[in-house]
Amino acid sequence: MGVFYKWGAGRDPDHPEIVDAHDSTLVTAGGEEILDAAAGAAVVNLGHSPPGVADAMAEQAERVGYVSTSHFTTPSAESVGETLAAMTPGSLNEAFFVDSGSEAVESAIKLARDYHVARGEPTREAVIGRWASYHGSTLGALSASGNTGRRTTYEPSLRGWPKIAPAYPYRWDHEGPPEEQAVAAAGELERLVRRVGPETVSAFIAEPVGGSSVPATRPHPAYYREIRRICSEYGLLFIADEVMVGFGRTGDAFACGGLGVTPDLMALGKGLSAGYAPISATMVADHVVETLEANDHAFQHGHTYSGNPISTAVADRVLDRYTEDLFAAARRRGRRLEETLEPLVESPIVGEIRRVGLQVGVEFVADRETKTPFDPDADIADRIYDAALEDGVYTYPGGGSVDGRAGDHLMLAPPLTVDDADVTTMGETVVSAVNRVAGEEGY
Ligand code: PMP
Repeated sequence: MGVFYKWGAGRDPDHPEIVDAHDSTLVTAGGEEILDAAAGAAVVNLGHSPPGVADAMAEQAERVGYVSTSHFTTPSAESVGETLAAMTPGSLNEAFFVDSGSEAVESAIKLARDYHVARGEPTREAVIGRWASYHGSTLGALSASGNTGRRTTYEPSLRGWPKIAPAYPYRWDHEGPPEEQAVAAAGELERLVRRVGPETVSAFIAEPVGGSSVPATRPHPAYYREIRRICSEYGLLFIADEVMVGFGRTGDAFACGGLGVTPDLMALGKGLSAGYAPISATMVADHVVETLEANDHAFQHGHTYSGNPISTAVADRVLDRYTEDLFAAARRRGRRLEETLEPLVESPIVGEIRRVGLQVGVEFVADRETKTPFDPDADIADRIYDAALEDGVYTYPGGGSVDGRAGDHLMLAPPLTVDDADVTTMGETVVSAVNRVAGEEGY
């Protein structure tokens, strides 16, 4: 009786009960402290319980706790929309508010469809995605996702949308310097679009820097230059899913900005309120808005809590904290975290340590030469997660679930505000956890 947890009903005895949290620290009911090296799920960019957020919530709740945004707006919704328009790249100038990353992706998928219908191309429907990607749990977002572990049970209910290989240089077998490899990898999209017929394809969706499926993978910028060219040439909208990597995680305000690519639609979540209230947004480029308006085409979509005033008030307060100084500090902290992981470069079970800004992915392999992943039944990433947690550090494990296209890995993505001493403890604890599990495996 009680809460239904991810792995089944009833309280999971392994779930620590968190009663307090501050900065990068979670405090359990038993008084233990856990360092949060994953910022929740790469959410709590400003650390736990930052000053000012509770006041913003209370002030808004006392003024206006709810209005239907089908018929009303609020000062904080307008302010957040304006800030996002200024922060995001290109002409992504309008924000459609929803409540989760999955919903921001759903909205982008449906908006792309609306755009093509408004333009008189109603056969454009498919959303091409990539294997080893995650765009959300709902059926549309999951249809566009290529993380097979998360998809398998629901396959009968998912759209059969095609996929290309992930932007994953470590496992590419393209020849030549990085730029040529990137162009060759992106070329798979062009071949696929030609094969299925551009008149059937609505959009291409990608996490510009890899998140939970293949963390911290960033191809040479030529990859997205080529993706942008292909999308424009064949009339596809490019949807960038920055739910995990937006708002400074990669050391830039948005990963697309760092890569020099401008999407037509962008899904945002997590860092938008840094976890303090549920809110997400789909950013829409001017030409998409103009097409809908010119054809008098209404977007038949929305949720009861879209643009909830308390959530927008929190987001408004949080966005004020995203400064160039914070992003520069995040890059510096990322470099420090990478340095503390240096001993793992020699580990027989570590294939690659990747870092983009303050997001690190450590990929585990059974054989460094052949890059052979571990047998998923060995639960390598989960065991390393457990070992680190035993020593008081929370990390984000993944793997074995992406169809042989990726191995086990650990993602580290502490709050952008994490202090140096905590970075050192996080890194040293992970090194020791990896070494312990490698030892258990007989390496
Ligand atoms: N897209 C990406 C890239 C994500 O990382 C996530 C969540 N991990 C989602 C979408 C879905 O977001 P939510 O869990 O808020 O629905």
